[in-house]
Amino acid sequence: MELDILIKNASELLTCKADSPKVREKLRDPGIIENGALGIKDDKIVFAGKTEGVNFSADKVIDATNKVVMPGFIDCHTHSVFAGSREKEFVKKLQGVPYLEILKQGGGILDTVEKTRKATKEELLEKLLKRLDRMISLGTTTVEIKSGYGLNLETEKKILEVADLADKRHPISIVKTYLGAHTLPKGKTKKNYVEEVISSLDKIKPYAEFCDIFCEKEPNFSIEETIKILTAAKNLGYKLKMHSEQLSQLRSAELAAELKATSADHLEYISDTGIHEMAKAGVIGVVLPGVTFHLMTKKYAPAREMINNGLALALATDYNPGTCPSENMQLMMSIACREMKMLPAEAINCSTINAAYAISREKEIGSLEVGKKADILILNARDHDYIPYHFGINHVEKVIKNGKIIE
Ligand SMILES: [Zn+2]
Repeated sequence: MELDILIKNASELLTCKADSPKVREKLRDPGIIENGALGIKDDKIVFAGKTEGVNFSADKVIDATNKVVMPGFIDCHTHSVFAGSREKEFVKKLQGVPYLEILKQGGGILDTVEKTRKATKEELLEKLLKRLDRMISLGTTTVEIKSGYGLNLETEKKILEVADLADKRHPISIVKTYLGAHTLPKGKTKKNYVEEVISSLDKIKPYAEFCDIFCEKEPNFSIEETIKILTAAKNLGYKLKMHSEQLSQLRSAELAAELKATSADHLEYISDTGIHEMAKAGVIGVVLPGVTFHLMTKKYAPAREMINNGLALALATDYNPGTCPSENMQLMMSIACREMKMLPAEAINCSTINAAYAISREKEIGSLEVGKKADILILNARDHDYIPYHFGINHVEKVIKNGKIIE
């Protein structure tokens, strides 16, 4: 067979292979092939194995001696379309100004909403494309993007259209999620806004695959409101996600299990029953340690407990201007290891194959297997433990997306 690209002599080729989301012991196994080789034809992987005995000819041969080769990162939770930034708020927080006071001074999420409403589609697209350039240079090859900074039909639609345009223009693959129920917009009552979101679901359906909600104390959405909105979304054919148990324990993890959501995300305050119910229902738990790091609350999701109890985890940035202004998956792995005691191999599986499960893309991406899309990273690291260990730098030397080398 004549290949387009042959990568050989990788000190570790991490396949991250799994038939179901990786849990417990399997999560510790990144599927290492020492002295590995990988063959690419068109946009697909056609060979993954040992370098010994490989005798394919290829248009391009890449020598990966002393390098790790692994699947591209999948950032399965972001809010990447927004205008403005909130560094002034960050400085106030460092000086001890409470969040409610920052809100009163016109900061916080509603500030982002106002700026995003005012921005044109072209402006938002230009910003998004820059962010996607940064992501791909850091190794992210697929990203989930939520709306949620419009809080009215017009702007929510605009955000998802921008994500769609970027998907067509940029090499990164984008999965779209409707998050109209992010928070309560100014000048609306809760009751009216819940009805507004429900009636928008039908109109937004062509633009989004998932429906998400911020289930939390006021001004966010209660368990009852979450049931109403997500049930209506499910009936229209949306797959479900939830911002769950981030700031308090509302038993929304149990609800995610009951509603058979694809994932429940955050989970800082998840209960033992929540862990058990989610594991039983096959809901993926998405942990977002960059948020706790940036908010400096020190309350990380109990990743060890979740892993030990058989709950499949994925790792994401939650990239957004307020609670995690970083699109760097390598940094998230470094924080997850240090603050949640994830092992490097676990953090890698959580950022690849399990993250693919969190966005229902496990059949196409997330592992290095014959037939899967050629979304591949070559990293300047001899073994996988080194990646989160040497933190704060970019280990990515080469990104291959859909079988094409990204320059
Ligand atoms: Zn989020």
